[in-house]
Amino acid sequence: MRIRMHAFIMGCQIIFGFGYSRPLSQIMKTPLRLCLAATALLAFSGALRAQTAPDDKAEQELKARAYALQAKIFTIDTHEDVPSAMIRRPTWDITQWHDRATDNSQVDFPRMREGGLKSAFYAVYLGQGPRDAAGLANARDRALAMFMNQHEMLAKYPDQAELALTADDGPRIMATGKRAIYLSIENGYVIGKDLTLIKTYYDMGCRMMSIAHFSNNDLGDSSTDPNGEEWHGLSPLGKQVVTECNKLGIILDGSHANDTVVRDLLDLSKVPIMLSHSDCHDVWASPRNVPDALLKRLADKGGTIQMNMYSAYIMDIPVNPELNTKQAELMAKQAADPDKSDAAEARHVEEIQKLRLQYPTKEATLPDFMKQVFHAIQVAGIDHVGIGSDMDGGGGFTGMEDVSKYPMVTMELLRAGYSEGDIAKIWGLNTLRVMRDVQDYARKNFPVAPEAPRGRRGAGGGRGARGAAAPAASAAPAPAPAPAN
Ligand SMILES: [Zn+2]
Repeated sequence: MRIRMHAFIMGCQIIFGFGYSRPLSQIMKTPLRLCLAATALLAFSGALRAQTAPDDKAEQELKARAYALQAKIFTIDTHEDVPSAMIRRPTWDITQWHDRATDNSQVDFPRMREGGLKSAFYAVYLGQGPRDAAGLANARDRALAMFMNQHEMLAKYPDQAELALTADDGPRIMATGKRAIYLSIENGYVIGKDLTLIKTYYDMGCRMMSIAHFSNNDLGDSSTDPNGEEWHGLSPLGKQVVTECNKLGIILDGSHANDTVVRDLLDLSKVPIMLSHSDCHDVWASPRNVPDALLKRLADKGGTIQMNMYSAYIMDIPVNPELNTKQAELMAKQAADPDKSDAAEARHVEEIQKLRLQYPTKEATLPDFMKQVFHAIQVAGIDHVGIGSDMDGGGGFTGMEDVSKYPMVTMELLRAGYSEGDIAKIWGLNTLRVMRDVQDYARKNFPVAPEAPRGRRGAGGGRGARGAAAPAASAAPAPAPAPAN
């Protein structure tokens, strides 16, 4: 059985390109092996997965190296939809280990520890809603509630996690054995038309913000709005947002925005920008993905692309027409629901998830994901690629069900011959560099007089009062309890 399994793996490697970094001569040492590979491949073709044979010694050694390295280096995932998931599941406990198969969750502290994931941007996300006054006020209130919910969670478990605000905070908190949690905003819709809200969110811990989500909004155009472009890039308000984020030291995130917006961000921003969870258009032509030419410009400016683990962005996923019809019907029904509360949204998400379980679609595999990663490295360079999984927001695939599986990415990077230093860049150092560039620019060019008293939170390389700003010092209504350090 051992030979048979080994041969199967080799067969997969030969036919499907697994083990791309290993010379073919090494894989196929004898004709007998080739024969076995082909036979075993036929036998196992229905169960093809990016897994290694448990009894393969070389694979086990590589795996052990990957886990050891993952445990050692600073690792950060720049897009996890934890805040919106937590609002949907009020009694769910992030300190407990969960199973995706049971509750569809993909991120909790035990699984972060298991996957050697030291840090993450938890994204305060809101889908695009009405752009009238009531809609904007509702979006603002829900975003503030999500920030407060995160602060309450961090205050509840001070021994397990800590709010991270500066580029130095991540590694500092990692050294204490706790998870370093950064907060970001997905969809600038939540500022409405009020630029001062950016400072409010900054004071609540926001250190990265994207312009739009699936639809155009008052800041600029989305890459997926069915009605096409509205502003042809950033709106006049969106351009002011760039200036404001540069001043405060908030990373501008071009994910979900259309290419013209990303070009505008690159032209207008004084500092590097990030695509917090995107893939490469030249590998799979999803409108959500970035073309090579733009990826090169992003890198020239010092920014990064953070590779997304959402199957439909990684590769062409065949559409299930039955699911599409049912989903369109359900979404039309949900859009007509006058109830716009969190509870209603939670119900809507559950309904969609239930439908997707009824009509399962194909998922990407680890080799598919690595193809995206390797392409991005080839085009943008090793200093300009990171990981932004979209876990809890649709990211993940078979074999990468949750954050506990992250060492498998490291294993593939090792297999491809990347050095430990290169892997450390991809998993964290590149992100920290962008954050540091953004925050240094703000501190040097827009210094703020210190305010007293300052909490210990500012000690991690902060930028005066702004770097030290804590929810307790926020101009926002009803501040959340300050998390312990
Ligand atoms: Zn997203």
